[in-house]
Amino acid sequence: MPVTVRFAPSPTGHIHVGNARTALFNWLFARSHDGNFILRFDDTDVQRARAEYATSILTDLRWLGIEPDRIERQSERFAAYDQAAETLKAKGLLYACYETPDELDRIRSRRRARGLPPVYDRRALKLSDGERAGLAAEGRKAHWRFLLPNFVDDPAKMQRTECSWDDVYRGHQTIDLASMSDPVLIREDGTYLYTLPSVVDDVDMGVSHVIRGDDHVTNTAAQIALFEALGAAAPVFGHHNLLQSETGEGLSKRTGALSIGALREDGLEPMAVASFASLIGTSEPVQPARSMAELIRLYSVARVNKAPARFSLDELRGLNTKIVAQSSFAEVAGRLSVLGVDCDENFWMAVRDNIQTLSEAADWWQIVGGDIEGAADADDAEFLAEAAQCLPPEPWDTTTWSVWTSALKDRTGRKGKQLFMPLRLALTGRDRGPELAALLPFFGRPSTMARLSEPTGRRRN
Ligand code: GLU
Repeated sequence: MPVTVRFAPSPTGHIHVGNARTALFNWLFARSHDGNFILRFDDTDVQRARAEYATSILTDLRWLGIEPDRIERQSERFAAYDQAAETLKAKGLLYACYETPDELDRIRSRRRARGLPPVYDRRALKLSDGERAGLAAEGRKAHWRFLLPNFVDDPAKMQRTECSWDDVYRGHQTIDLASMSDPVLIREDGTYLYTLPSVVDDVDMGVSHVIRGDDHVTNTAAQIALFEALGAAAPVFGHHNLLQSETGEGLSKRTGALSIGALREDGLEPMAVASFASLIGTSEPVQPARSMAELIRLYSVARVNKAPARFSLDELRGLNTKIVAQSSFAEVAGRLSVLGVDCDENFWMAVRDNIQTLSEAADWWQIVGGDIEGAADADDAEFLAEAAQCLPPEPWDTTTWSVWTSALKDRTGRKGKQLFMPLRLALTGRDRGPELAALLPFFGRPSTMARLSEPTGRRRN
């Protein structure tokens, strides 16, 4: 059977970097096993699911370098879920219950008081047809529970029944099916909870590996039982650690924090986000992969930790800086031009080591060619006037800076920071940035003269 994985977001918000991590784990797994990646929209909740979120999820995945082999929507598959529900009902494995939340609370407390696990006691199984009809006549609507296989003959006598699987990330896992309530698969209003549709889809779509966050571990035992009840083999499961915010909270689609869209707007490179999301919380150092192929190699040697992973904007920005510095002119020329930077390779090579994001190249393009506000100290005006006097004639190249500053050093006796900083402040308006030796030719002599003669606080070109 070919490897088939699925990333199954509910389109109820924009995906964040933690969701992207799950998508990437699936993608890297599929690609390293020559397998298929299905994007499955879990949109059974028609009230909350929105088409624009589905579109934005697809945009975000593509931006990260993930192109699904197949796209599926649960909202188009209700007939399959209805059929599975009928199959389970016919086998006596899906049964109608009528308890209200308050009644359920009371049942649980009573069981707790008797030293029993606080699970649903299956009293609805004992209802006669007449009692059921009576409840329906009172206007009570049934919710439907799946009968877990944790008993021998009498469902009321639950007994320890181990459900085990070898988890891709967590190793051997065992859950006692008697420690859980029979899961509700269908609500009073007839809508499906996620449990059954997910299993039906995994069967129908030939999913071989379910890779998802470890918040789903407890669903897995019930889902394995469901696969079996539907006569299908359960897939392999892998539950990875979740990504938390910098302050240790869970990430939420609803808050929009750390959404992929926001990181993209901040000018982060897709491979920086993909490398960070895939390697954080693993035994592999977080390092920049320049391509998916490289990330597949790094990821396959990484082991995913059990403890939650922590987001770090500094670390992500650090990766971005490295990726930008490693990008060739050919790789970025198109995007630079969109940013209004119609530069040649020399300019890119002059700035790429000193910027965190590509858009900062546009700032430097503006600094060398447009208006800036000089930031030199007024006390340096005389020194800068002397600097103007020993400015070499054009043509200029990358050696001009050292010719100029050597002459200026001899003339003024200044050296080190005292020599360079006033020049940098007057020319760029900033106290740090790319090597001035590389930048100087882009200013040109007239503009440099103008900046030296009005070095403080005024706008000029
Ligand atoms: N829609 C579910 C979620 O977003 C999918 C879980 C799964 O992968 O099975 O949590």
